[in-house]
Amino acid sequence: MSVLSKCFCWASKSGPTVGDLFEKTPSLKEEAVKRDPVKAVCKENCFTALLDNGYHIPVNSIYVNVEGRTKKAMERKRSIIQLFDVSKQYGARYALKNITLSVKVGDLVFITGASGAGKSTLLNLLYLATPVSQGQIIMGGMNLARLSREKIPYLRRRIGVIFQDFKLISHRSVYDNISLVLEAAGQPPGVIKKKVGEVLERTGMTDYLDALPPSLSGGEQQKVAVARAVVGDPDIILADEPTGSLDACSAEVITQYLMEYKEKGSTLLIASHNTELINRTEYDALYTLEAGELTQPGEKICAAVNPTTGEEMEGGMS
Ligand code: ADP
Repeated sequence: MSVLSKCFCWASKSGPTVGDLFEKTPSLKEEAVKRDPVKAVCKENCFTALLDNGYHIPVNSIYVNVEGRTKKAMERKRSIIQLFDVSKQYGARYALKNITLSVKVGDLVFITGASGAGKSTLLNLLYLATPVSQGQIIMGGMNLARLSREKIPYLRRRIGVIFQDFKLISHRSVYDNISLVLEAAGQPPGVIKKKVGEVLERTGMTDYLDALPPSLSGGEQQKVAVARAVVGDPDIILADEPTGSLDACSAEVITQYLMEYKEKGSTLLIASHNTELINRTEYDALYTLEAGELTQPGEKICAAVNPTTGEEMEGGMS
């Protein structure tokens, strides 16, 4: 029996993206499943099978041979956010410089870094709040530079954003701030009432639905911002210090709530300099920005995969 023993994840700035060589070259697939052991190795843009002869075969899927039957054990996920050599300048000064980054569907990715490192700028670019100076961004298959004005609202509807400064509408109630997202998406009143009620309850803000944002504390406003970001079940959640105004207990509750959206299939990109929060959270990738430049993240060991079931096993192997 072939053993799929390890999965390493680390980022490589320019890992080659190769088509499904297994399909194009069946002999490679046969070789990969014949050899023992086969290790799955995934890089940022490249998913490879490491054969026991030391060769890496770039693949979209890893197959294992279980009692004579070939079984798909792992599949490369497609990217939902891609930045290619992106820079953002304010005057002569670079807020971001030559950022190349890829986030896979359903992943939770943290961007960390000191104040002024460029975290908010990165999220602003993805939300089209400001244009890039150089480079290209592809979101959900759409090239942002080629997106017509009319299409921007459609893209934004797929994204839930938690802004660092919340950006709540000050003269509208908590309920209205949240329900507007669903109204813009054309949801019927019954659905809006139910969904807004749910997110208010989960964020502990049910008692404040008639309140105006300026009457709330910073932490309460942040909870409303979280509720508004998730109420539309977005494909992508962009969060800028989403627990920055919360006490430790509320931060834990809100983080777990956001994690539920990952479980449901949303992709999360969270900017945070809260290392304690990051360390306690099971993430897929962690990047650090330093003065606008992305540094290579450290190696992260993923859970081992059971070759029989294809499921992750407890206690990943190093
Ligand atoms: P972070 O979110 O990591 O604290 P920011 O993305 O807010 O960092 O800022 C990165 C750099 O870009 C900082 O030097 C900041 O002063 C600068 N910057 C951000 N927005 C603007 C702006 N609108 N005009 C000029 N400079 C800006």
